[in-house]
Amino acid sequence: MIHTGKDVVHQLAVSLEDIYNGATRKLALKKNVICDKCDGCGGKKGSVEKCPNCKGRGIEIHIQQIGLGMVQQIQTMCSECHGQCEHIDPKDRCKNCNGRKIMKERKILEVHIDKGMQDGQKITFRGEGDQEPGLDPGDVVIVLDQKDHDLFRRHGNNLIMKMEILLVEALCGFKRTVITLDKRTLLITSKPGDVMRVGNFKSVLNEGLPIYRDPFEKGQLMIQFSVKFPPYGWIPAQNLTELEDLLPPRQKVAITADMEQVELTECLLEEQRKAYCGEAYKEDQKPRGGVQCQTS
Ligand SMILES: [Zn+2]
Ligand SMILES: [Zn+2]
Repeated sequence: MIHTGKDVVHQLAVSLEDIYNGATRKLALKKNVICDKCDGCGGKKGSVEKCPNCKGRGIEIHIQQIGLGMVQQIQTMCSECHGQCEHIDPKDRCKNCNGRKIMKERKILEVHIDKGMQDGQKITFRGEGDQEPGLDPGDVVIVLDQKDHDLFRRHGNNLIMKMEILLVEALCGFKRTVITLDKRTLLITSKPGDVMRVGNFKSVLNEGLPIYRDPFEKGQLMIQFSVKFPPYGWIPAQNLTELEDLLPPRQKVAITADMEQVELTECLLEEQRKAYCGEAYKEDQKPRGGVQCQTS
């Protein structure tokens, strides 16, 4: 049976642009190769013999007196051949590798990142690992490490992005541009009268990531909308009726004499935080981004 050397694993940072467009990276590695002057023997042909010190076992056994009539056996690596089990006369030793049988070599690997590859996907270079006499070399394994993108988040073959629109745009329609991962500009428009709600998702088909090994097919670009409301005091009070006339009617409340009218104020921050956390815990068992919730 032929034994195989260890695999060498490297992480390779890749951007979403690399995964969208495909990319080639050159990776420089230092590896052990078998000396080509002596073919991994360490010396001239016929000069390699069993180490006379350890008789080819690679170890030395020492007997140590540790008390009255008591001895201890200690095994150490052979001091002559350093565990190599072989002896080469210094004059016959290979000058190229100095008898070490292996040399360090710089090797450039070309890594092809195919369109649509996954985060953590492995690219294997068979037999490119360290060489060692008597062993089949292991592989070099490149593991893709996908970096976060400023705008897009990956979900399978889909891309997800957030878009904040103004209240007027949410109600009356909008036009926005998005730069794609291959630097095209998409013009995104809504249909008049199509009301965008906070948290609404809309998709642009075929603008997600290419599908691995089927790169003409693409996932979706999913856009999650948020709506920016106008600031306090944006409209003079006398214009509010005009606005109200255009909006769907408000909810009517029948007022009776036994009702207590109360006033709304800003929340005390601590109470607001607790209410927010309680709500988030009920929904998905963990706090949402931004607000730190501690249970004590
Ligand atoms: Zn050599
Ligand atoms: Zn030895």
